[in-house]
Amino acid sequence: MTRKPLMAGNWKMNNTVAEAVVLTQEISNRYEKEWAEAVDVLVCPPFVDLKPAKTVLDFDKTKVSVGAQNVHWEPKGAFTGEVSVAMIKEIGCTCSIVGHSERRELFGETNEDVNRKVKALVSAGLYAVVCVGESLAVREEGTTEEYVTAQVRAAFAGVDARDAAECVVAYEPIWAIGTGRTATPEQAEAVCAAIRATLAELFGDETADAMRVLYGGSMNVGNVEGLMAQPNIDGGLVGGASLEAASFVQLIEACL
Ligand code: PEP
Repeated sequence: MTRKPLMAGNWKMNNTVAEAVVLTQEISNRYEKEWAEAVDVLVCPPFVDLKPAKTVLDFDKTKVSVGAQNVHWEPKGAFTGEVSVAMIKEIGCTCSIVGHSERRELFGETNEDVNRKVKALVSAGLYAVVCVGESLAVREEGTTEEYVTAQVRAAFAGVDARDAAECVVAYEPIWAIGTGRTATPEQAEAVCAAIRATLAELFGDETADAMRVLYGGSMNVGNVEGLMAQPNIDGGLVGGASLEAASFVQLIEACL
């Protein structure tokens, strides 16, 4: 099965609205319309930048989709500081990242929270980009695959195969995020293959074959080719290198 690659930019807490408009416009200007057949592109700006980024892309008819970096699972109510799935859906987001390691580590997001978020997204017709990944301590202990596949099982507990099929899993070793230290293509492939085997156990081979598994963690123009050459890596979730249009566009081109 050939999966269409996905190159996704996670802007994290970077770019004011004015800056986001400039960056989105630069990406849009460099984006070649024919690429849409070969690669899907997603940008995940901070909440306040979602609508402005979407407006720029819609105006240019650029086939780059927009997703949130986080979302709450409840539809509405007394959850100060949170944003609902309906809110991001209304402004045209197709998905949200969930369970990013920064949210798990800095904001105490649990596997159960991640699961609630996945369910809230898929039941509204959006998809989740589910982040999983081990710390350096887990890797050194030799239990990476058990740890990561347990995160995958927890994220998708109670989700049916049809909804899961729309979702994306991003393998992001914590020790590689924002550190400049990338997993080797072989290390990344081994874990992405284990993730796919787990998805096959949960949802069957056909669904697992159709689902995209991304690598994230200091992906850049120097290492993207080796990572993308791996059979179970279907694209990237990129932080730092997505903040400059030139490097992000080079990563997109590496998927063509
Ligand atoms: C990320 O935040 O998902 C990420 C992979 O960041 P970076 O590319 O900067 O390591």
